[in-house]
Amino acid sequence: MDICYTIKDVRERVNAWKREGLTVGFVPTMGYLHEGHKSLMESARANNDKVVVSVFVNPMQFGPNEDLESYPRDFEKDSALCESVGVDLIFHPEPEEMYADGFCSYVDMNGLTGELCGKSRPIHFRGVQTVVLKLFNIVKPDRAYFGQKDAQQLAVIKRMVKDLNVDTEIVGCPIVREADGLAKSSRNTYLNPDERKAALILSRSLKLGRELIENGETDSNAVIKAITDSINTEPLAKIDYVDVVDFDTITPVDRIGKSVLVAIAVYIGKTRLIDNFIIE
Ligand code: AMP
Repeated sequence: MDICYTIKDVRERVNAWKREGLTVGFVPTMGYLHEGHKSLMESARANNDKVVVSVFVNPMQFGPNEDLESYPRDFEKDSALCESVGVDLIFHPEPEEMYADGFCSYVDMNGLTGELCGKSRPIHFRGVQTVVLKLFNIVKPDRAYFGQKDAQQLAVIKRMVKDLNVDTEIVGCPIVREADGLAKSSRNTYLNPDERKAALILSRSLKLGRELIENGETDSNAVIKAITDSINTEPLAKIDYVDVVDFDTITPVDRIGKSVLVAIAVYIGKTRLIDNFIIE
């Protein structure tokens, strides 16, 4: 497995693979890798000749009062996990490598980013889109793998690739959970034991919402209310949002039909956690 720190080094390797006609699968991450990331890498491994993983905590997608500085990092452990899955190359750049002096070009979107996480994190998706397009231009992947855990991000990247004619197939992968239901996240490491227990309210409340829908409820507001009431039973939880939107356009829907995303963001203490389910 190669570890590259510069764009030039990645390009040299990828170009050599392309000359041989090999396909490239790509998994962009911010590191502190867990089973969720691993599932993306395994899908990439199974369907491509070469697999590239990027480990980059992207400053551009963090707001001024967010957790850029404290975001967990453990590159040695990340490398070992990548090696165990058979990853061919890790790209692990410094911010200066990605954002040279004078950097001033961005990718932005008028739709899809006004709801859900875009409301409380106004500059987040601009940062995500910009870094992902840059990474695509560096790695030139045939396929790129994104988790449904970040469902709005998945929808935004699919839209960006379509709108800007990026020649990469976007593959969405299911949410990987802890045994008790909590969606795996690098940020779970912030939770103390009481908060870790309290965090179960996210998956439990979503399960309740899903059961309501499976039992025939089609009114979004009724589902939102049931989920909200359930989360509010947990004293350590503070809701950022509970929403029902169309999964492709990320706009609110009144009636629950096909391709609907039920998404929540909840603070447990100071830690903001997200979770969701999709009605296909
Ligand atoms: P991050 O390192 O948090 O930026 O995540 C990198 C990729 O891993 C994103 O596409 C995430 O959606 C995905 N991911 C993170 N957690 C999970 C999870 N629990 N299940 C599936 N995919 C995940």
